[in-house]
Amino acid sequence: MTGIDSLRNILELERRKGCTDRAVIGGLDKYLHNQAGQIRQSINDPQLLKGFDELDLARSVYGSYSVDERNRWMANVFDWLDKLQKPTETSGGQEAVASSRTAAAQPRQKRKEGLDSPITVVKGISTSVEKKFAKLNVRTVHDLLHFFPRRYVDYSQKKSISELIEGEDQTTIGTIWQARVATLGNRQGTEAIVGDETGNIRAVWFNQPYLARNFRTNARIVLGGTVGLFKGHKVFESPEWELLGDKELIHTGRLVPVYPLTQGLYPRQVRKWTKETVDGYVWQLSDFLPSEIKTRCQLLDLPTAIAQIHYPDDQTMAARARGRLSFDELLLLQLGVLAKKRDWQESQPGNAFHIDQEIISRFLQCLPFNLTRAQERVLQEILDDLKIPKAMSRLLQGEVGSGKTVIATLALLTAAANGYQGALMAPTEVLAEQHYTNICNYLSQIGSQEPHCAPGEGTIRRYRKFLSKPLTIALLIGSLSGADKESLHGRIKQGKVDIVIGTHAIIQKEVEFKKLGLAVIDEQHRFGVLQRSALRQKGFNPHVLVMTATPIPRTMALTLYGDLDLSVIDELPPGRQVVKTKCLEPQDREKAYAFLYRQVSNGRQAFIICPLIEESEILEARAATTEYERLSREVFPDLRLGLLHGQMPGPEKAEVMRNFRGGDLDILVSTSVVEVGIDVPRASVMIVEGAERFGLSQLHQFRGRVGRDKEQGYCLLIPEKLSPEARERLCLMERVHNGFTLAEKDLELRGPGEFFGTHQSGLPDLKLAKLTDLRSLELARREAMTLFQKDPDLKKAEHQPLRQQLSQAWSKDAEWS
Ligand code: ADP
Ligand code: MG
Repeated sequence: MTGIDSLRNILELERRKGCTDRAVIGGLDKYLHNQAGQIRQSINDPQLLKGFDELDLARSVYGSYSVDERNRWMANVFDWLDKLQKPTETSGGQEAVASSRTAAAQPRQKRKEGLDSPITVVKGISTSVEKKFAKLNVRTVHDLLHFFPRRYVDYSQKKSISELIEGEDQTTIGTIWQARVATLGNRQGTEAIVGDETGNIRAVWFNQPYLARNFRTNARIVLGGTVGLFKGHKVFESPEWELLGDKELIHTGRLVPVYPLTQGLYPRQVRKWTKETVDGYVWQLSDFLPSEIKTRCQLLDLPTAIAQIHYPDDQTMAARARGRLSFDELLLLQLGVLAKKRDWQESQPGNAFHIDQEIISRFLQCLPFNLTRAQERVLQEILDDLKIPKAMSRLLQGEVGSGKTVIATLALLTAAANGYQGALMAPTEVLAEQHYTNICNYLSQIGSQEPHCAPGEGTIRRYRKFLSKPLTIALLIGSLSGADKESLHGRIKQGKVDIVIGTHAIIQKEVEFKKLGLAVIDEQHRFGVLQRSALRQKGFNPHVLVMTATPIPRTMALTLYGDLDLSVIDELPPGRQVVKTKCLEPQDREKAYAFLYRQVSNGRQAFIICPLIEESEILEARAATTEYERLSREVFPDLRLGLLHGQMPGPEKAEVMRNFRGGDLDILVSTSVVEVGIDVPRASVMIVEGAERFGLSQLHQFRGRVGRDKEQGYCLLIPEKLSPEARERLCLMERVHNGFTLAEKDLELRGPGEFFGTHQSGLPDLKLAKLTDLRSLELARREAMTLFQKDPDLKKAEHQPLRQQLSQAWSKDAEWS
């Protein structure tokens, strides 16, 4: 067998080296071609011989494979080797232990394949199972170790049979008196009578007649599940079961992990595999946390935490395991975020602007209103940032309608007055256009506009008598004609445009600024972090101001945007009214229509939002189109309706919005794309269909579209189906008008994933950590800051593993900063 043994050794070495074909000098193929014949001679079993021939090692082309292909090839060969070596290896046998303790410290069988090996190295995981796990993003042993249970079922309290109570989750251990295939209902199942010294109980498994084969009379069995009553007798219905034998209990008699599964993966199998993996591989995990932090925060070491999160000794250990692992996630997040901030603030000096109070006051005097106190405060915070030679990095949060645009305009003007260019990026063309119009309106109060308008009429304007030199402002959106765009690009590059307002068209490669000094990003939650950094990279280490109307609770903002300083406009301009909100029953739709009709008759406008269709803009668009047709034909034949959805081409969308804003439409039927930030002063009614499908923050955004002038605004929520929870959630909308409170509620009720949707790309995964857990957040943040102060680049020897972990966690978005 020596040929086989050295084959295994060499392959294991090769795998540890990351399948780089460096295990044997001259390459693996050469070795295999030489050795295959000799290995073949040592195999007697015809079945195994057949398998060997199928591997065709004598003509292997391993060297020409990609790493993935090499891994798969490797898994195949190991599969075969396992079959070959099984009879000799299993003979020792393990001691019988029926304890619920995991043996993390002494793995029963240390496995040596690297953690990056495909999960097929785990006994029983076939390539078809591998595919199912891939759907859960579990591909390697490392992934499987980090495939955490969602929760546990507590089968740890064992009772004697006579102590079992109806209606509770319990576990008992007994002897099988009798087991047989039985007809249950009108299907075949398994029935067993299990007894101990206190009595006996019937257990039944519906639709699983094959189980009977496993249940030998007199075998010891553990049953876990709810005890019911059948004809006055206690009975276990389809309980978890486990024969008491040579293995540690994993399905019963303990806290049993419940994993998130996918089609074709069954809990019992998955538990078997995770147990094998934990036992076999957890020892290979090296702990990257400095021991000082572990001691100070009283954290478990990593292998123990991983072992315990899967098979905890008890609730306390489960909590501690979770505590350690979520600490890791938050710490890595914080460290990454702090490093980004440092990199981009300190890698190069920022531009210190001179603040010209005269310009600012002149601008403010021309506004038809006074700034609120909150606006004034925030303006000052921003100006203070702009003054110093360090790039600003600020998040400006403010309720819908709190007046962020004016503040942004002042910052942009300051940049222009300093001879720098400023850019304002909005998530949609309609919003960009609106900003452009508004800012131009503000400016025309002060400066005098030149009639001159090339290229792309209306998309570039010039104001005199305001700054010491003419001020040029341009709109850059995707729907400009090619020639206009090109000419605009040229002007931006030559520095002939001072303020550029646009969509993500601004961050395209072709756009080069002569001297970008300030970038403002509106409605940040619509943008990924990557886009944010793309704008930053447009040169000269510009100041960055990010604006959002999605109120992010402070703790969460610190974590997700820890690289940004935070300003909040927590006050609405005076006279703003609260949008009256009502949650209706589905059958009250007619009343809502009648109300809408009356409002339109009084010269108001209305939105009707169609239900959110998860994951499919196409279906959503189709549903909206159907609804639009129905409403136009059957409900409001004499009103003017418009349709807006995400599948429409940009210019068409802009056209509809323009018509609506201009008052040429009475009702806008729209999917959820109806732009955040859209300002249509005459709109007074917002009807949201399928309201229960939206998050509270999103509903709050919707209703922010109406009641934007003196007239009362109304928001009518019409759910499709109203579960008690949905009703409770929607009723909050009637009572609560503070966006922050609603955001907190949203977070609590739906979790951060929902909260941010899919837009929040570019951040490491948080699998366990809860952004609502203030204490953990603060702990992680404190430790991250301490570390960062002591060893900002994590250069010290004891921080190397942590540094490596950090770069892995953030690797998906290596271009982030
Ligand atoms: P948002 O913060 O939602 O972006 P906007 O900047 O669009 O809000 O402002 C909403 C409206 O309120 C605009 O019409 C704007 O001119 C007006 N506005 C801004 N600040 C004030 C203020 N201090 N007093 C009165 N109206 C204001
Ligand atoms: Mg806005």
